Amino acid sequence: MTILVLGGAGYIGSHAVDQFITAGFDVAVVDNLLTGHRKAVHPAARFYEGDIRNKAFMQSVFKKESIEGVIHFAASSLVGESMERPLLYFDNNVYGTLVTLEVMHEYGVKRIVFSSTAATYGEPNETPITENMPASPKNPYGESKRMMENMMRWCDEAYGIRYVALRYFNVAGAKLDHSIGEDHTPETHLVPLLLQTALGQRESFTIFGEDYPTKDGTCVRDYVHVVDLIQAHLKAYDYLVNGGKSDAFNLGSNEGFSVKEMLTAARQITGKEIPVKVGPRRAGDPAVLVASPQKAKTILGWTPEYTTIETIFSSAWSWHQTHPHGYAKEE
Ligand code: UDP
Repeated sequence: MTILVLGGAGYIGSHAVDQFITAGFDVAVVDNLLTGHRKAVHPAARFYEGDIRNKAFMQSVFKKESIEGVIHFAASSLVGESMERPLLYFDNNVYGTLVTLEVMHEYGVKRIVFSSTAATYGEPNETPITENMPASPKNPYGESKRMMENMMRWCDEAYGIRYVALRYFNVAGAKLDHSIGEDHTPETHLVPLLLQTALGQRESFTIFGEDYPTKDGTCVRDYVHVVDLIQAHLKAYDYLVNGGKSDAFNLGSNEGFSVKEMLTAARQITGKEIPVKVGPRRAGDPAVLVASPQKAKTILGWTPEYTTIETIFSSAWSWHQTHPHGYAKEE
């Protein structure tokens, strides 16, 4: 039996493929390579290039493989872009998941673990965020993920497809041997942008707003190491195999770091100056997003090992130093 990883050539998906294979699973990957990289996919995985919105293509993969469960990363994930192109998010994320669920139902596949997000909450008044707080997304990205969660809830009710929604906070870092890591074009995320600036590939790093109601005026986020994040997917899959009921779990660290604190850490770890500018706020950004990971710890038995700012930056820095052009040189 095989685990099907949708979006397995992307940053987070490629770490999942690697860790599921290391854990002994047989893995097949679907990716349309719009943002993913063929080189990021572990060579032991069977690779199918195509789009999850293409039902005939998805049926052909399910027909060929004996799929026992799906791990779903194939989605658009940029808050800023979603504010400008909301329909892209409803098409790729919501419609893509609809097709996935249709095909799972058709082939009798009953388990799915998928990437949800802190952005489903919007901006709760209380911190840290717990799973039962109300959903009030501030951007189409968060809205699309919430819709995906709701679709799955009804598919469980009607078809018995059980799901785990993992609500990611800010994912960063790279595999510790720096063989895979983060490579987006264009890059929009804080950690890689800071490190590309440290490498001299960018003139400066822009802080998006310093007038937020936070400790130093810059946005506060909860950063999780990608390797720990994927360990939670392995635990979530085990949980479903053992009969666990459909549920949502936060993946965060209970600790928030401001953009300025991240900048200070990046300077310390790289030993580089990292020139900075201050710009306006980015549309759709809440001031503070910090998660309580207690539910994932208690119910899934998740124990993050690498989620410190030092390990996040040092692993990402090794990746950027050894792959200054990402996967480009290798493709
Ligand atoms: N950020 C920033 N400058 C940048 C990119 C990001 O100040 O060039 C801030 C952004 O406003 C947010 C935090 O860094 O508060 C993390 O942003 P990222 O895009 O990495 O992740 P997101 O929070 O959108 O998932």
